[in-house]
This record gives sequence, C-alpha cells and structure tokens, in this order.
Amino acid sequence: MDYAPDLEFLEKLLLAAGPSGFEEEATGVFLEKAAGFAQAERDRHGNAYARLNPGGRPKVLLLGHADEIGVIVSHVEEKGFLRLKPLGGWDPQVLVGQRLRFLGKRGHVLGVVGRKAVHVLKEEERKKAVELEDLFADIGAGSREEALAHLEVGAVGVLDQPPQWLLGERLVSKALDNRLGAFVVLEALRLVAGKTEAEVVAVATVQEEIGAFGARTAAFREAPDLALVVDVHHDSAAPGMDKARVGEAELGRGVVLDVGPFVDREVLKGLRQAAEAEGIPYVLNAHGRWSGTDADEVAKVREGIPTGIVSIPLRYMHSPVEMVDFRDVERAVRLLAAYILRL
Ligand SMILES: [Zn+2]
Repeated sequence: MDYAPDLEFLEKLLLAAGPSGFEEEATGVFLEKAAGFAQAERDRHGNAYARLNPGGRPKVLLLGHADEIGVIVSHVEEKGFLRLKPLGGWDPQVLVGQRLRFLGKRGHVLGVVGRKAVHVLKEEERKKAVELEDLFADIGAGSREEALAHLEVGAVGVLDQPPQWLLGERLVSKALDNRLGAFVVLEALRLVAGKTEAEVVAVATVQEEIGAFGARTAAFREAPDLALVVDVHHDSAAPGMDKARVGEAELGRGVVLDVGPFVDREVLKGLRQAAEAEGIPYVLNAHGRWSGTDADEVAKVREGIPTGIVSIPLRYMHSPVEMVDFRDVERAVRLLAAYILRL
C-alpha cells in the first residue's frame, strides 16, 4: 500500500499545546485536517472525531489520545514565580532546565524551570532527586502583579520542544506520546477513504494521561463493533532497559502488537494477518493486567468492545526528547489501513 505521510500536519500537531483537559489547540489541528476528507466534529467532553461512511458496517473506532503531559499553575508567588502541579506522570528530573509554554490570558507565555546553581547546592541537595513541588517556573515577571497580567492560578503549560530530525529517520519532540497516535489514526482514515464501506471513525481522545477518560466517553458515544487504539510503547534497546520488564520493542524494528486480558484475540489475529500480508514487521508485547492505554477503558465500555492495540516503539517517554523511528509510524498507518480494508 502506497503511503505518503503528511509531515506538515504532523509538525503542526506536535507544536500544538494540549495538556490533559486542555486539548483544544491539538484537537483543533486534528479537526482542521479531518475536515478536508471526512465529517469532523467535537463532543462535549472534547474528543475530536473524523468520520467516513456514517451508517456503514462494520463500525470501526480508531483512537489516539491527543493530550500530552503538562503542568498547571497552583500558586503565583510575590516575586512572580509560578508554583506547579503535574498534569500526568512526570519525572521531575527532566523538567529542570526546561523551557515551558503556558496558555496565558492573551496567548502563549514562555517560561523556564530554573534550579539553584550547582555552586550553591548543599552537599545533601546535590544527591537528592528533585521533586515537582520544589520546582517553579519563571516567566520573567518581576512581581505577582506582573505575572497575573498574563496568567493566573489554573493556567496550564507544556514543554516547549519542537520536533527535530536526527540521524536516519529518528524524530525527536515533546508530545510524541501520543500526538503520534492521533496522527496515525487520521492518516489511516485518509488512506482508506473511498476504499471501504465500513463506517470508520478516527478519534483524537482527551485526558488519557490522567486516566483514559476521553476514550471512555468516545467509546460509549460511538458504540463501535470494534476498536483499535494507537499509542506508544517503551523501546528496549537503550542502556538500562530490561526486556523482561518492558518487552522486546525496539526503534525501527516494527510496530508493537499488544497481547493481554484487554486485547481481543480476534482483533489481534486480524492485525497479525494484515501485517503479514503487507510485509509489516511487528513485535508482540504482553500485559498481565492493564495496558496503560485507552484500550483498558474502551474494552470495558457497554457490554465490552473488542479492542486491539497498535503501539509505536518510543524512547525516553514523558521527557522533552521523546524519540521514535519514523518508519515505525508509517508502518502503523499502513497496518491500520490494511486491517480495515480486509474486514
Ligand atoms: Zn503518556
């Protein structure tokens, strides 16, 4: 199957700010692209939908969460420093020294996460891991009043780290987890447009990083015959990664197909057959209980929705330098399309 990725769309998606619960910018990019070839709409919860062949059968739901981890301002100090709470799972070590982009009252506000210089850190402070509650953002304001003119308690921010290409086809960016999923489901939809009679709905879901809430409402609303969730999964090739614990996925080795209690066996079988027919390499990845993706929620909506998971191997998850091999992204798009066309 021929596939020419829309890299301009991908870049826009990655640059958009969309921390959990505040995804409008990211879902807006998704809907703008979707409107070109599908029926595009939002639900009350914020999930964004792109639909082909309303009323067609079977009905297939493709889900990729559009939110990214971020921060929310909990307190503005007298000197203008912002104290933060997490939106999603942070390792605070990777926040130190980062640039942030806040959604302010009149547009984006840039800031940095500073820390006391190494020279003035006490011996025991140097050895201790940083905690988020000790960190603060500095937007350049000299006072609380100056800061409040631009943002207030409840303002949200994300990492300010645009996409960059490294050697080979390696792509680094903030928010690859999981803007890539939203990208893959819409690209797959574009590939099957005009070639299937099934109703296929690609959804950019909200609030995954804080509990897969958007996927639950989207699956309930749509009540599909089956669902495919696209997310990212840990690469096991980097130093210190234990394959027994994180599985066998590696950048560039192909997509990841998940196996476990929440994965429907027929859907998995169909994905494997489609991958084999298309010559797409894949690695199996086992879960004992949850997958940690939207699939956990989708699979138990209503009387249970048959659900499969396609993941893209990713290095340095939840950091400013999330990395993938773009060939795996293209493989995920082609696999979803091939699977749908074989239904
Ligand atoms: Zn994540």
